[in-house]
Amino acid sequence: MIKRYKVVMCPKCKSIQTTEKKEALKCMGCRKQTQFKNAKTGFEMVKIYDSFDLPKHATLLCQKLRKDKSKSQYLNSPMQK
Ligand SMILES: [Zn+2]
Repeated sequence: MIKRYKVVMCPKCKSIQTTEKKEALKCMGCRKQTQFKNAKTGFEMVKIYDSFDLPKHATLLCQKLRKDKSKSQYLNSPMQK
């Protein structure tokens, strides 16, 4: 079951953030709104990493994921001279 505070990734700008919204994500990065699920197909439009009862826990996971993301981008980037 999905709890109140969700850790999600905006499909448009890939920014990881927390939200309390149930129907749609209003992205804090690009300001675009995306429905969590496509009403017709039921397809998940927004990736939900996890959900929590406490906003503090959601924020902690959010920070960890952001860190991991920047680390993997660093490792995957081609070597620069
Ligand atoms: Zn966005």
